[in-house]
Amino acid sequence: MVKALFFYILKPRLVISQYLCHIPGDVQVGDTHADKLEDDELTQVNLNKVPYNIVFVTSEASPYSKTGGLGDVCGSLPIALAARGHRVMVVSPRYLCGDERFAGTVNLDSPTKVYCAGGVQEVDFFHEYRKGVDWVFVDHPCYRRPGNPYGDIYGAFGDNQFRFTLLCHAACEAPLVLPLGGFTYGQNCLFLANDWHAGLVPVLLAAKYRPHGIYKDARSIIVIHNIAHQGVEAASTYCNLGLPWEWYGALEWIFPTWARTHALDTGQAVNILKGAIVTADRILTVSEGYAWEITTPEGGYGLHELLTSREFVVNGITNGIDITEWDPSSDEHISSHYTADDLSGKVVIMECKIALQKELGLPIRPDCPLIGFIGRLDYQKGIDVILSAAPALLQDDVQFVMLGSGERQYEEWMRATEAAFNSKYRGWVGFNVAIAHRITAGCDILLMPSRFEPCGLNQLYAMRYGTVPVVHGTGGLKETVKTFNPYAEGEDEGTGWAFSPLTRECMLEAVRVAIKTYREHKTSWEGLMRRGMERDCSWDNVALEYEQVFQWAFMDPPYIIN
Ligand code: ADP
Repeated sequence: MVKALFFYILKPRLVISQYLCHIPGDVQVGDTHADKLEDDELTQVNLNKVPYNIVFVTSEASPYSKTGGLGDVCGSLPIALAARGHRVMVVSPRYLCGDERFAGTVNLDSPTKVYCAGGVQEVDFFHEYRKGVDWVFVDHPCYRRPGNPYGDIYGAFGDNQFRFTLLCHAACEAPLVLPLGGFTYGQNCLFLANDWHAGLVPVLLAAKYRPHGIYKDARSIIVIHNIAHQGVEAASTYCNLGLPWEWYGALEWIFPTWARTHALDTGQAVNILKGAIVTADRILTVSEGYAWEITTPEGGYGLHELLTSREFVVNGITNGIDITEWDPSSDEHISSHYTADDLSGKVVIMECKIALQKELGLPIRPDCPLIGFIGRLDYQKGIDVILSAAPALLQDDVQFVMLGSGERQYEEWMRATEAAFNSKYRGWVGFNVAIAHRITAGCDILLMPSRFEPCGLNQLYAMRYGTVPVVHGTGGLKETVKTFNPYAEGEDEGTGWAFSPLTRECMLEAVRVAIKTYREHKTSWEGLMRRGMERDCSWDNVALEYEQVFQWAFMDPPYIIN
């Protein structure tokens, strides 16, 4: 029975949208995620605009909660879509009761019961209507604890599977039970489930609601921001997910022999992201390059074959950024404002750079190239490559500042390096949004040697602030940073340097070329800054691309119909 269900879920389905959407264009049937959403298609979407009831489900949404890019995207894309006429709700946990970030939210007085973890759980919903979006927060004692959304100083919370299972159940109830602005969103909505934390949403639609005639006309899209995190737990936890037993096959996951812990370990597990991939109507990722990478053995983290089997519904859309929060002409966190037309604050008086050097206690040297890094201290971010290259880099006449938190060994390395290279290096251990803005504005170069990067936002922020990115050419970094070519014929399009492969030598060489350009070729450097600042990185065009995918989602019947 389980096997039969699994086969049913995986069997190839006719995807009407893939055919219809390209008529009468010349795109071949085999074209899938690699397709660029063409301008004329987007204009068409604009003309035929249908307002959708959109429900984002996410473990973080800035400014209420944020540990990385997911928070940024779910804090700003909903606003862009609402501005285009859609009714948009974001459902996320209400972390830490009484936190000032939730001060504007009110209890909707709609206690709701959901069934999971072997019993009935009661959640409350809090709400704030802000910037055209219904921000809905699920309240339950399991979210009220110190730390970040996923863990504390002792590591990841042991009950994360329960916490995010609860979020998904609550999010499925929210459109049905919450009369926001007097009216519920109702059943005809589009769920955007973000990453594994929201991955049970498409599974619940298929397994719990549609068999009872609810959400028959709804659609779901799983948005993969980082496939390395899949929500995998022991198979015995399946009974806690509040799913009918016959749906086990949708989440079934067998670890390869080499990944098992002991001789009696059968490797049986449940994988929530896999469940989302086999039940969602469509699959989105945060850049075109990453949409392809996740279908390869190197980038798919075990899900590549499954994703390949559904590649007709996989698309990649490069993230935009919140250009109001990240605006060097008005940023409240920085000491001097500037624009692409008037760079004096950045290149002449260099107030942002001097203020940063002062704040960090570095020697005040406006002429010295200042390199920055912001991000999670994680193997994904290539911190090990920075570690191996730093002693050589810090022999040069440079200053280097890092802001990040994560693996303890890297935090300790930052502290030790600061002691050893006190006049050249600063390592700020922690999560601080204001400092992130000041580093982005004050540095000359932003270093991002990520091993893989689904999209990456820091390079987009850097370019908007005239800070030139030096990145490993992978995923979204490769797509967004164009390498500067001083010998280019005609107008060069370079906005930074994308080096490859990811080695210490390659990274050092790229950084040194950037430093040389900064010191010796001021006009080229200003060109790099200006081109980066003039890139369109707003959500406006990106929202159009999302609308195209929404249209495709509703063009096809639901992927799973029982
Ligand atoms: P990821 O989502 O993989 O962590 P992204 O580049 O997509 O990486 O997004 C990271 C986001 O988190 C950016 O907004 C960045 O400024 C922010 N960020 C990362 N680390 C820190 C930190 N230590 N302090 C403040 N902001 C941080």
